Amino acid sequence: MNLTPEMLSQIQSAMRHAKQGTFYQERFADIHPEDITSRKAFEQLPFTEKDDLRDAYPLGLQAVSDDKIVRIHSSSGTTGTPVIIPYTQKDVTDWAVMFKRCYKTAGITNLDRVHITPGYGLWTAGIGFQHGAELLGSMAIPMGPGNTDKQIKMMMDLKSTVLCATSSYALLLAEEIERRGVKDKIYLKKGVIGSERWGAKMRKRIADELGVELYDIYGLTEIYGPGIGMSCRHECGMHMWTDYLYYEIVNPKTGAPVPEGEVGEIVITTLQKEGAPLLRYRTHDLTREIPGACACGSPYPRIDTILGRSDDMVKVKGTIIYPSRIDELLATIDGVSSEYQVMIDHVNGRDMLNLLFETESTDSDVRRALEKTTELVFKAKIGLTPNVKAVDIGELPRSEKKSTRIFDNRY
Ligand code: ZN
Repeated sequence: MNLTPEMLSQIQSAMRHAKQGTFYQERFADIHPEDITSRKAFEQLPFTEKDDLRDAYPLGLQAVSDDKIVRIHSSSGTTGTPVIIPYTQKDVTDWAVMFKRCYKTAGITNLDRVHITPGYGLWTAGIGFQHGAELLGSMAIPMGPGNTDKQIKMMMDLKSTVLCATSSYALLLAEEIERRGVKDKIYLKKGVIGSERWGAKMRKRIADELGVELYDIYGLTEIYGPGIGMSCRHECGMHMWTDYLYYEIVNPKTGAPVPEGEVGEIVITTLQKEGAPLLRYRTHDLTREIPGACACGSPYPRIDTILGRSDDMVKVKGTIIYPSRIDELLATIDGVSSEYQVMIDHVNGRDMLNLLFETESTDSDVRRALEKTTELVFKAKIGLTPNVKAVDIGELPRSEKKSTRIFDNRY
């Protein structure tokens, strides 16, 4: 995005503040905020990596005195040490203000009933959705994840109008509502779907089965949580709240900025965060800047929906593949459903890409034909032939959190 002189001075003051804490005091010992007078100078600053944040466990990121901290969140530490992010009252309030803006961008009002399925607790998701909804004046229904029976009962009895969920959980609920034949007792109008990458096919299935308009919301625990960007009714990427953050799109390998419109990794600098400010934080989310103004008239710039994680990019036989590319290819094949799984193995000195996809067809001839078509499409478009297997709908895992679809078993 454009780095205006005004934003540059915001970055300088964010740096000055960040250096109040030991984390950036140490990292930026020889760097002076007043020297950061150009985009070029800013881009010389070292990146902050998630591992740096882990090394600061538990409270090494804190940049204000203890009396200012009102809450902590932690990013899901499935592997190794978690990251703890301390929040001040202003951080908590700013987050709710941004989240309210997200809801308004989706046309959600104080008459809506917002059914919140993301988790509560250390994870930032649920409470962010809730505070934003309350600030807007809508009715928050703080379900949290799991217990599908109860989810659907509450959705019917309370006449929830907005569903907040990850795409995989939204799909699970949509399938369950369909299976139970209760679609006419569901009042949902809109879905606010967390920022994991999801393909056009999955989107269409959720929208059709629930009968809702879908919106993408972006965010990560290290930078407040979900709610720092949101798609509008024009469905052309997510508006980013650049009064609270500055972002760059860089080449994940070299760290250099990519030309406008090209896919790269989004790197975020917080402009107003007090508890744990971050400078040039590498999100590992792949996206691209969408040039030009949006038809909705919003002044906030846009990034594309998340195309995958730079760590999910895999190289097979010299070809770079990321999940959204697989979504795109599968979307072109009629009869192949949205759910798939890719396993990459190294067998007899060769890399093999094994692809499982779900299909509604139970006819073995149809399945074989779909498998063959998929092989040919992959061969033609990305130059490698996968081993393909069709499986039944519901056979691949659905999860309440972000789902992994590419498993690299080579290392
Ligand atoms: Zn817009």
